[in-house]
Amino acid sequence: MKIDIQEIKKRTGASQKYQLREMIASLTLGEDRLDFTQPVEAQLTAINTGETILVRGEIRTEVRLRCARCLETYRYSLTADFEEEFQDRTVVHGEPEEGIHLYEGNYIDLKEQVEENLLLAVPMKALCRHNCKGLCSLCGQNLNEAQCNCEREDIDPRLAVLKDLLDNK
Ligand SMILES: [Zn+2]
Ligand SMILES: [Zn+2]
Repeated sequence: MKIDIQEIKKRTGASQKYQLREMIASLTLGEDRLDFTQPVEAQLTAINTGETILVRGEIRTEVRLRCARCLETYRYSLTADFEEEFQDRTVVHGEPEEGIHLYEGNYIDLKEQVEENLLLAVPMKALCRHNCKGLCSLCGQNLNEAQCNCEREDIDPRLAVLKDLLDNK
């Protein structure tokens, strides 16, 4: 995921648009693996701010997630905002400012930052649909697909407290 900044490097205020498309096979996400089902597409603009090259825009792709309730995998459209600053390694004395990345030459490789931003956009609790019914806690049947014959007491946890009170009387 490299962008050629040779032209905009020459003048403060100069900017250039980029359209990138690249396949990422998978990334590590905690103890899990995040699989991509579509290439990563990035629409970015790089601006020479004088001190840094500011790259911003949007990245999108599609990934495979596992539903936290029914454990089925499903495809999820992942979109992330992108805004990162890069500074020429040869003009930085010592460590760069916090949050600023270094580059060298006429290209900036955005791979690391693109991957980082995508990982941050993955929902903490993945659900295949907002009303996923999950698995039966007794027999493991996927309740989105069929009902089972278990006698479950599907009770809202808030109401469960009330039921306990009544049962104890
Ligand atoms: Zn589900
Ligand atoms: Zn069941």
